[in-house]
Amino acid sequence: MHKGRERHGIGEVIAVDRNYVPMQEVSRRRALCAVVAGRAHVLNPVTFERHGNLEGRLELIIFPHAQACSDSKLLIGRLERRVLKRDHFTCQYEGCLRKATTVDHVIPLCQGGATSWQNLVACCLPCNQAKGGRTPEQAGMILKRHPKGPRAHLFERFEDLLKRASAA
Ligand SMILES: [Zn+2]
Repeated sequence: MHKGRERHGIGEVIAVDRNYVPMQEVSRRRALCAVVAGRAHVLNPVTFERHGNLEGRLELIIFPHAQACSDSKLLIGRLERRVLKRDHFTCQYEGCLRKATTVDHVIPLCQGGATSWQNLVACCLPCNQAKGGRTPEQAGMILKRHPKGPRAHLFERFEDLLKRASAA
């Protein structure tokens, strides 16, 4: 099952927020840094106990101050890169074939939109500027498809981890 290098690396650790909702995958190195710096704790996937020891397997960490994706500034850069990758660096607005270099909040932040997989799409700079602080409807723009993907994958991985952990 774990052969070769998968796109969503096996070495990656699932990070959950303070409500135990998976936020995203982080590299092992990043997870270790966050634990060592005291921003995150290692979580036992069977008991959900937090511990600070880095011996056992590092599969799950908790950011006790983060909620969903929105407050985790720490993870923002990575989230944007993953959104671009998910959307193949192509602008997600209908009729546009340009390369995406930015990410757009579908529901803008100023209108309460979240910084989450479901609300971010890859977008070229001209479309992003043209859309401004408006929703696609308000700006008369149509999305090629609804954003989803890695986050759905993340929830699947999270469930697998819990299943494996409780079976062990
Ligand atoms: Zn565009």
